[in-house]
Amino acid sequence: MTKNKDRKMRQETKIKPSSSSTSRLQLLTSHLLPPMASEKDAALAAVPTDSPTIFDKIINKEIPAKVVYEDEKVLAFRDIAPQAPTHIVIIPKVKDGLTGLSKAEERHCEILGHLLYSAKRIAEQEGLEDGFRIVINDGPKGCQSVYHIHIHLLGGRHMNWPPC
Ligand code: AMP
Repeated sequence: MTKNKDRKMRQETKIKPSSSSTSRLQLLTSHLLPPMASEKDAALAAVPTDSPTIFDKIINKEIPAKVVYEDEKVLAFRDIAPQAPTHIVIIPKVKDGLTGLSKAEERHCEILGHLLYSAKRIAEQEGLEDGFRIVINDGPKGCQSVYHIHIHLLGGRHMNWPPC
């Protein structure tokens, strides 16, 4: 077989999906794969509970996280689905019933203050001297999806008000 004939045969046997086979494939996979859930969908699907969450796995180093700050009381890591160029989640290492801010009791005042002060320090560390935003989502209507209290630290872009 000549070189040219061989190359032609190889090209002809390559599978090039036609537009109709591509759309057939999309139709098939759309039934198999659920669409990517939005943050709101995730929050609505989340069940408010005191059970361990994905954040316990991060604290226990069972799953990786991009940790940016840690002390004896709090852990801060980059959000897996960032909503701003800088998006950091700050959590207490011990939940102590604080599934969300609405569960706060007087004994939590110290850790709540420590979380906020840590957010300020991390903002400095991240170079957010022009401003940043702190968010605490609470409950289904507050779009909370992980029931282990946490502060979102967002920065690196201009924020809008009111938040929608
Ligand atoms: P919230 O919706 O206020 O409960 O925030 C939970 C946040 O945790 C969301 O912004 C998620 O993107 C983030 N998140 C969930 N799992 C992880 C993870 N494994 N690593 C980093 N961030 C995560």
